[in-house]
Amino acid sequence: MPEKCPFCKIINGEQESEKVYEDRDVLAILDINPSTPGHTLVIPKKHASTVHDLSNDIMSSLFGAVEKVMRRIGEGLDPDGFNVGWNHGKIAGQAVPHLHIHVLPRFEGDKGGPVQAVVRNEPEGDLSSIAAKIRSVEKPSKQRSRVQREVEKKEKKKDVSPQEKQLGEVDRVPGAGKDSVEMEGEPEREASEEEEEEEDEEDERNKSAKEKWKEMKKARY
Ligand code: AMP
Ligand code: ZN
Repeated sequence: MPEKCPFCKIINGEQESEKVYEDRDVLAILDINPSTPGHTLVIPKKHASTVHDLSNDIMSSLFGAVEKVMRRIGEGLDPDGFNVGWNHGKIAGQAVPHLHIHVLPRFEGDKGGPVQAVVRNEPEGDLSSIAAKIRSVEKPSKQRSRVQREVEKKEKKKDVSPQEKQLGEVDRVPGAGKDSVEMEGEPEREASEEEEEEEDEEDERNKSAKEKWKEMKKARY
């Protein structure tokens, strides 16, 4: 856990917060600088700056918690709607490098806008060429996160301890996430050695980008 992460401090009980929901994997607290009454942050207990660093299991808990929090806010504060989302990366407005989902209750006449209002950067190319670029990286092996691949590799070598498998450094990925990593309609298949190497190189690149991001964040917290 990064020492100065404000959300890790809250999760570890070193800093106070207004908790509104908690389960094994997730904590939800009121935002200290609320944009609307009931503005809530839903936070995975495991420190991770991006969704790609969380196992499918934790992602599932996280989104399950978002739904429960929305129901609680719905019954407790009677809002007329919600905006739900997260700032992913500095350029998108992420100030705290511990992934968190904003749940913003909306009330009639609150003068807010839709999530699309955060940016208006119309693309120059046509939609089909943009879609083709995105589709071109839809290889099943690439859809797995770094954490999941690490666990799969360790499991192959059989050096994952039961504790690690349950909650430890490498996170919990039962069954190496077989069901959860498949894209609909696409059969799961083993990654070739070439693909594994490609993934490792990509991991290295991501790691160095992440280190730079961490250094920048250290300067702020
Ligand atoms: P983001 O720009 O998505 O990283 O948003 C970070 C959010 O965390 C902001 O809305 C802050 O007001 C909120 N925040 C920062 N520190 C705390 C804290 N100690 N307790 C509750 N909310 C916090
Ligand atoms: Zn943290």
